Amino acid sequence: MSNVEDLDKLDHQSPVVEPVETEPVETPVVELVETKGHGSGAEWLSRYSSSLMGVFGTPQRVLVRGAGCLVWDADGKEYLDLLGGIAVNAMGHAHPFVTSVIASQLATLGHVSNFFTSPTQIALAEKLLAVTKAPAGSKVFFANSGTEANEAAFKLARRNGDGKRGKIIALEGAFHGRTMGALALTAKEAYRTPFEPLPGGVVHIPFGDIDALRAAVDESTAAVFLEPIQGEAGVRPLSAEYLQAAREATTAAGALLILDEVQTGIGRTGKWLASEDAGIVPDAITLAKGLGGGFPVGALITFGDTVSSLLSAGQHGTTFGGNPVATAAALATLHAIESQGVLENVRTVGAFLRDGLAAVDGVTEVRGEGLLIGFDLDADVAPALVQAGLDAGFIVNSPGPRTIRLAPPLILTTEQAGRFLAALPELIQTAVSRTAKDAQ
Ligand SMILES: *Cc1c(COP(=O)(O)O)cnc(C)c1O
Repeated sequence: MSNVEDLDKLDHQSPVVEPVETEPVETPVVELVETKGHGSGAEWLSRYSSSLMGVFGTPQRVLVRGAGCLVWDADGKEYLDLLGGIAVNAMGHAHPFVTSVIASQLATLGHVSNFFTSPTQIALAEKLLAVTKAPAGSKVFFANSGTEANEAAFKLARRNGDGKRGKIIALEGAFHGRTMGALALTAKEAYRTPFEPLPGGVVHIPFGDIDALRAAVDESTAAVFLEPIQGEAGVRPLSAEYLQAAREATTAAGALLILDEVQTGIGRTGKWLASEDAGIVPDAITLAKGLGGGFPVGALITFGDTVSSLLSAGQHGTTFGGNPVATAAALATLHAIESQGVLENVRTVGAFLRDGLAAVDGVTEVRGEGLLIGFDLDADVAPALVQAGLDAGFIVNSPGPRTIRLAPPLILTTEQAGRFLAALPELIQTAVSRTAKDAQ
C-alpha cells in the first residue's frame, strides 16, 4: 500500500473498546539487541546507566512490548498505560492499522528530503487543514517533534513586524519544549537558567489573568503563545473567555495568537483541538505528541494567507520533517481516530474517569478535559503514588509533588479506567505510608 487512497481500502478490524490481550514475552524481539545474562530489567538498567546520558534520571522500568493500552517490562510484568508515552500513543501500542500503514509506507518509500515531496505529505497537510477548519490560504509546515514545531512558530513570530516587534508573550507555567527558542518560551527556571542567554524578548505573564494579558499586549508584541491546557504544569485549563480575550487583544495590536496544542491536540480532549469550543481562529497552532500515534511528527499550521506567507522560501527547513513514513503514520492515526469513534470514546471514558476520581478520598481537585486529566492529592505524595502505581501495574505521572497526570491512549476503555479507580484508594494509602516512612 503505497499511497493514501489505499488507506480507505484497509479493513479496520481492531475494535476501540476491546484491549488486545496477549501473552507476555520474556526477551526483546529485535535480534540486533544483544542480551547478556537473562535480559532482566536490572541488567538492562545497569547497561543503561553506563551508556546513556543522565538527563532523564533512572528510567522507571525497561519496557519491551505493548498492545493496546497495555505494556510489558523486561521481567514480564504487565502495566495498564495511563500515560500513553506522555499523550503520544493515541491509538495505543502496536495498533494493527497504524502499524501496517507505517510498515508498508516504509517498504515503499521511506525518506526523500524536502527537495521532493510525496503523496502522504500532501494528503496529511490537506487533512490537517480540514480537521482544524483552517480558512482559505492556510498552510502546514512539518517538523519531527513539539519543540521543533514551536521553533518554527517562534521564527514565524519574529517575522511579524519586520524586526519592529521585539516582544513575545508566554504564560507562567508554560512548557513549549527544550530547544533554545522553545526553551525561551518555557517558564520553568530550572530548565532555563543553566542555558542562558536564551533568544531574547520573551516575557512571562501570570496564568489566566485577562487584565495582565491586556496590559502586556501592545504594538511591540510579535506574538502571544498559549497552551489551551497547560500539561506539564499539572493540567491547568485556560478558560474560553481567556482565549477570546487573547484573540481580541492580539488582533487589536497586530500580534499573532499562537496556540501550542502539542499535548492537547488530535483528539486528546475529545475534540480535534482543545481550543475548538472558544470559537476563535488563531494565527497558528502547533501539533506533535499524538499526531503520529507514536511515530515522531510535528506540525505548525498557519491560518490564512498573510500569516502563511511570513516565512518565505529558504527561511526555514528540516531534513526529516514531513517524510513519507512520519506523514503516513499521522494519516493512519487520524484515519483510525475518525473511523473508530475515538473522539466519542475520549469524551465518555474521560467523563467516567473524572467523576470517579472526584469521589476518591484524598483527591482534592480534578482538572482537564477528555483524556488529559490532572488531579491533586491532599499531601505531597504524588511521586510515591507513581511508584506504588508501577508496583501495582499502573503507569501514571506526577508533574508536581501533589499532582498526578493521566494521558492514556485515546482507546482506553471504561473497564480499564474502572480498574484504576478501584485500585486508587489503596495506592494513595501506600503512597502516604511510604512517604511518611521515607521522612523518618
Ligand atoms: C511535550 C510538549 C512540547 C515539546 O514536545 P517535544 O516533542 O518533547 O519536543 C511542547 N509543547 C507542549 C505543550 C508539550 O506538551
